Amino acid sequence: MVHTLIQKLAILSDAAKYDASCASSGTTKRNAVNGGLGSTEGNGICHSYAPDGRCISLLKILMTNFCTYDCAFCINRVSSNIARARFSVDEVVKLTLEFYRRNYIEGLFLSSGIVQSPDYTMEQMTRIVKILRVDHRFHGYIHLKTIPNASQELLDESGLFADRLSVNIELPTDVALNKIAPQKDVVEIRRAMAAIGDKIVASREPTMVKKRVKKFVPAGQSTQLIIGAENSSDAIILKRSASLYAGYKLKRVYYSAFSPIPDSSPKLSLVKPPLMREHRLYQADWLMRFYGFNVDEIAARGGGMLDLDIDPKLSWALCHRGEFPVDVNKAPYEILLRVPGFGVKTVRRIISARRHCKLRYADLARLGANMKNAKSFISTIDWHPGSAIDSTHLRQRFVPEMNQLTLL
Ligand code: SF4
Repeated sequence: MVHTLIQKLAILSDAAKYDASCASSGTTKRNAVNGGLGSTEGNGICHSYAPDGRCISLLKILMTNFCTYDCAFCINRVSSNIARARFSVDEVVKLTLEFYRRNYIEGLFLSSGIVQSPDYTMEQMTRIVKILRVDHRFHGYIHLKTIPNASQELLDESGLFADRLSVNIELPTDVALNKIAPQKDVVEIRRAMAAIGDKIVASREPTMVKKRVKKFVPAGQSTQLIIGAENSSDAIILKRSASLYAGYKLKRVYYSAFSPIPDSSPKLSLVKPPLMREHRLYQADWLMRFYGFNVDEIAARGGGMLDLDIDPKLSWALCHRGEFPVDVNKAPYEILLRVPGFGVKTVRRIISARRHCKLRYADLARLGANMKNAKSFISTIDWHPGSAIDSTHLRQRFVPEMNQLTLL
């Protein structure tokens, strides 16, 4: 069947929505009158965050959803019974430019199934980004999903034109990857991540030869982990993330809650994990990267699973009541970071403000603290939470009422 460009866009943007890196796909928040100007519901438009923190709209599509691989978790796998389509290189270039000129998007998020061979597919994707950058002087943001098992030369070339590259590791253990996506080679995935990481570092080093060095993927590299497709605990998932951040200098690990797909393989869980699990993993990931926590502290209890009812920092604080209350006027930076309700900016402001005066309870909210969470864990010159309330009762205050009812 021959599809029109619009039909292809509908198929290939829908096929791309399972990728977690544009978390707001399908949002209705900014919908302007039935999909009119400003709508966020147009085919393939998602939102992501640029390296400078701006929220940007991206055209998020697959080049094709034909694929010769048979990864059990993927709707586009070769054995999946779905409508298929394929854009040509010129069609992706044209769509990107047309959407960009009309101000619908600020960039492109491009992924693809594998056709013919990994190198053939990667070569086509590299051509797209090269034509956009060189022939059309396209300055929008480009996030390119690399093709597993593609050659290093193609990854090196694509990284000169894309702002971000990602290599999806998909599953938290090598055993799970071999079982569920047997054609993906975990050694190759690691090799690609390491090579991209090395190139990023090398491109940032000053050189005596040229004043300006062409940046290699200036927005860094990322990866995606699918959660709940098999039985790995949150502790195992977070350990994998920690080793990826440390080993390959990743900018982000994205977590994508597995959604059972039609005709799914018996290798997979049939139960959709709660979306809250994905959210808690993002919070735990944040604690590891910016708050000095390690995996064993965050996910040591509950069989390695995070508490779904309360956030992981609060959960840790409740399990370590003996370390609180923290004196806000004396505690060092790294201890203040462990107080529930205190973010990194708030802690910096506290450290700065207390150089000039002793802080009072009322000052903390002005400095950005969430006092509902913090008040039981801190002391100031005019506040002490007392010790009458035990951790179990304190926890009840934070668990959403709905959840308490279901526990009764
Ligand atoms: S290679 Fe990618 S597109 Fe193809 S089946 Fe695996 S995850 Fe899906």
